[in-house]
Amino acid sequence: MDFTEFATICSRLEDVPGRIDMTSIVRDVLEAADEPDLPVLIRFLMGRIFPDWSQEKIGIGPNHVYDAVAYVAGKDRDAVVREVNTAGDPGRAVEHLLARKEQTSFFTTPLTLGEVYGDFVVIARTEGSRSQKEKLRVVRRLFGNASPLEGRYLARLMLGELRIGIGEGTMRDAVAGAFGVSAELVEHAYQAANDLGEVALLARKGPDALAAVQVELFRPVKMMLAKQGTIAAMLEETEYLAAEYKYDGTRFQFHKKDGVCRMYSRKLEEVTDAIPDVVAMLAAATSHDIILDGEVIAVKDGRPLPFQYVLRRFRRKHDVASHIEEISLVPNVFDIIWIDGETLIDLPFEERRKRLEKAVEDFVAPQLVSGDAGEIEAFYRGALEEGHEGIMIKVPSSGYTPGVRGKDWIKIKPAVDTIDLAVIGAEWGEGRRANLFGSFLLACIHEGELIPVSKVATGFSDDMLAEAYELLKDKVISSKGKTVYFEPEVVFEVGYAEIQKSPNYEGGYALRFPRLIRIRDDKGVDEVESLALIKERFARQSST
Ligand code: AMP
Repeated sequence: MDFTEFATICSRLEDVPGRIDMTSIVRDVLEAADEPDLPVLIRFLMGRIFPDWSQEKIGIGPNHVYDAVAYVAGKDRDAVVREVNTAGDPGRAVEHLLARKEQTSFFTTPLTLGEVYGDFVVIARTEGSRSQKEKLRVVRRLFGNASPLEGRYLARLMLGELRIGIGEGTMRDAVAGAFGVSAELVEHAYQAANDLGEVALLARKGPDALAAVQVELFRPVKMMLAKQGTIAAMLEETEYLAAEYKYDGTRFQFHKKDGVCRMYSRKLEEVTDAIPDVVAMLAAATSHDIILDGEVIAVKDGRPLPFQYVLRRFRRKHDVASHIEEISLVPNVFDIIWIDGETLIDLPFEERRKRLEKAVEDFVAPQLVSGDAGEIEAFYRGALEEGHEGIMIKVPSSGYTPGVRGKDWIKIKPAVDTIDLAVIGAEWGEGRRANLFGSFLLACIHEGELIPVSKVATGFSDDMLAEAYELLKDKVISSKGKTVYFEPEVVFEVGYAEIQKSPNYEGGYALRFPRLIRIRDDKGVDEVESLALIKERFARQSST
């Protein structure tokens, strides 16, 4: 497929408001696509470049894009930045600049989808001292060969902000429609394979190929997630429940095969080298090839330390050894996803638990199985007394559903309402905060797009403000007066008193008295609260 065709499809999709129409356009495009283009086409349409399980990152920030476009358009960099700030979107800005390009190159070659992807791979894999120069050279070549419309989508793809609104749900339905298979099968295969591109190739082969998909070693699956709820409501639906402590640490997924071990964070980034002590503990705890799910906590004198201690270790790239002594980490394993070639996600939780207890000798999180509310509440109080965050209650008959925040895992913790939102903008601070960002614009997710729902300016210690600045300063895409907009990559956990309806934000809701609880750099922006769940929270609070 030519890249110009891809750009035209994107621009058509951008003008279509409804999900149904979008799904049918994408379905037709997928049906007509050549097989080799299919995986890349699917990922690109969702604004992604590599499979969700992949460790590869393109590593291109706004600065690379602006430098390259300045060069190609024969402008200076400031002119590019001014154009981005006026357009409020780097894609449109690049499009305008390429349309007014001063010197037209005689030797442009049309780009194909496959070549663009190939160049992205080259950019992602370029390492070493000359890497920035080399990356820039490839980015320039891409923009040099791009039409203005292609430039719009090249820039947005590189910056991870395609803005055409194709989320996982739309793509799942389009794949199902294009190849005549059920959306449930596509969803299930996606949960195991963690790449809709590959799933589409299987869907094309037919339902049997989709149903046969397995989890693969060293391709992390998304973590199963939890909702808020109550013990009483859960016991109304389920005769008995499994309860575990809710550890306040950092999620991990441990993969081991033939003695090779890898550890992944909640964002599915490999963290093996940052926590070799935990890797060694888990490796020694089982003789099997295995994939385990759990939470690492920091412990001192037998009591858990706050979550920040663990994050500090997860972030370490250098000098790991000296930090092992300072903070000792302990894994708590609560699920098993795969063992010795067998994918276990469809087994009921109680069966998985048996397999887990048989296969792993140590570090398995204690569990209470009970149908008695009083007994579960006592377990909850015990968890708090021991310094844990609360408990998780899980439906014993439920499968492991990667990436799903469903009704099968419920978190019970003391009543502080908090919500995870993406940081999409900020205002420069004043006074003591003059060279830092002072107030942050936050967004929830709705059908693959980030929708503003609140601002937060309180709850920050000086350290947290400095940390937020460090994390965000290179992510500025555009600015308007005192406001800047970011490439969305950072997640804040925010406390609030209430959710209100509000015309001030696009999502129609706002938080009352928002305050920062913590910077969640263990979470990715695709994991932030959805608009649907915010509506649910609003409904729940109005009914109590
Ligand atoms: P939250 O981050 O508040 O949505 O709570 C869900 C998170 O709690 C999970 O993603 C895990 O990181 C963590 N967690 C701690 N203990 C457990 C447990 N026993 N089972 C599942 N998740 C747990």
